[in-house]
Amino acid sequence: MKLTLIEGAEVFSPHALGRTNVLVAGGHVVAIGDDLSLQGQGVAIERVDGRDFYAVPGFVDPLAHITGGGGEGGFHTRTPEMTLTDASLAGVTTLVACLGTDATTRTLPDLLAKAHALTYEGLTVHCYTGSYEVPVRTITGSVRDDILLIDRFIGVGEVAIADHRGSHPSAEELARIAADARVGGMLSGKRGIVFLHVGEAPEQLALLREVITRFPVPVTQFYPTHMNRSIELLEHGYDLARQGMVLDVTASTTPELLAQGELSAAESLHHALAAGLSHESISFSSDGNASLPDFDEAGNLVGLKMGRVQSMHDAFVDAVRQYEIPLSHALHAVSTNAARYLGLSDKGELAVGKSADIVLLERDSLAVSAVWSRGKCLVADGKPRVKSTFA
Ligand code: ZN
Repeated sequence: MKLTLIEGAEVFSPHALGRTNVLVAGGHVVAIGDDLSLQGQGVAIERVDGRDFYAVPGFVDPLAHITGGGGEGGFHTRTPEMTLTDASLAGVTTLVACLGTDATTRTLPDLLAKAHALTYEGLTVHCYTGSYEVPVRTITGSVRDDILLIDRFIGVGEVAIADHRGSHPSAEELARIAADARVGGMLSGKRGIVFLHVGEAPEQLALLREVITRFPVPVTQFYPTHMNRSIELLEHGYDLARQGMVLDVTASTTPELLAQGELSAAESLHHALAAGLSHESISFSSDGNASLPDFDEAGNLVGLKMGRVQSMHDAFVDAVRQYEIPLSHALHAVSTNAARYLGLSDKGELAVGKSADIVLLERDSLAVSAVWSRGKCLVADGKPRVKSTFA
């Protein structure tokens, strides 16, 4: 077995551990400490000089459209698939993949196949069953059975609420989906999260509030995304965040969306912390390879761009450098919070016994220099060491 020893980096677990050494073996972090004496024969050790770097947990992206998405402007606007290096060069080692608007030409079997492919290439990829639609499209015919019987499914989503592209589910329908996800998750040792796409319609989170008021579904069963669509929507979620719900904000954006009132992910984190929310209550997702359609007031499509996984790293840098958010808090947003809330217990922390998902960041620029995922080096010297199969 080959060991990797990262020496002298300033380590964030996400909490600051100071300068120390990290030992990786068998895909896990097996020791962290100043005095790791490694002796013996027959053990190959790759030593990595980490002195110019921060060593941080691999980023965890709770929403990526790995098979592409969109198509709101017709077939030629269907976005392409994600590749390994789209994620690895951005420091993202774990993703949760899902369908979106289109669950007719985009399918769950295709999503699972792509998740297997990216996992083979080195990432960790989980999936949500379903799409925007209600009744929910599944593989087995049931949300509960999909989560219970298919390993890679850890929840359902992104179920659309308050969106003109959604199915406008009733409170009963959403409560039923949440109950199925919860029980499927309980029986298979998963969280069974209901990942909610929150659109721009004025009802915002009204449906979610109705469900948790009328039915015995805990608020922490839900994970709403796109909460940075507007300051009003973000603030609308604060009381739910105080009850333990994590608010997800989208890192991919466009100048047009920002001009319409969207907050950047970094600004959203800054705003939430300033409002007294815990640094554990906001996560960033990339919405990678989603289409980012621009609709005018009448609902006509007037522009279309594509989300990128790289936005996770861009938003992280923005949070630390522009908004002066402590590195540890920003790491919670791009890694620790999503991993914890999704129940991915060996992810989101650089700690003994956890998956060896480690990113070395240049100390000044925070550029991604090296990435290990499950102990395998995917990026070295800022360049891919492992390329996508067809790159
Ligand atoms: Zn969405």
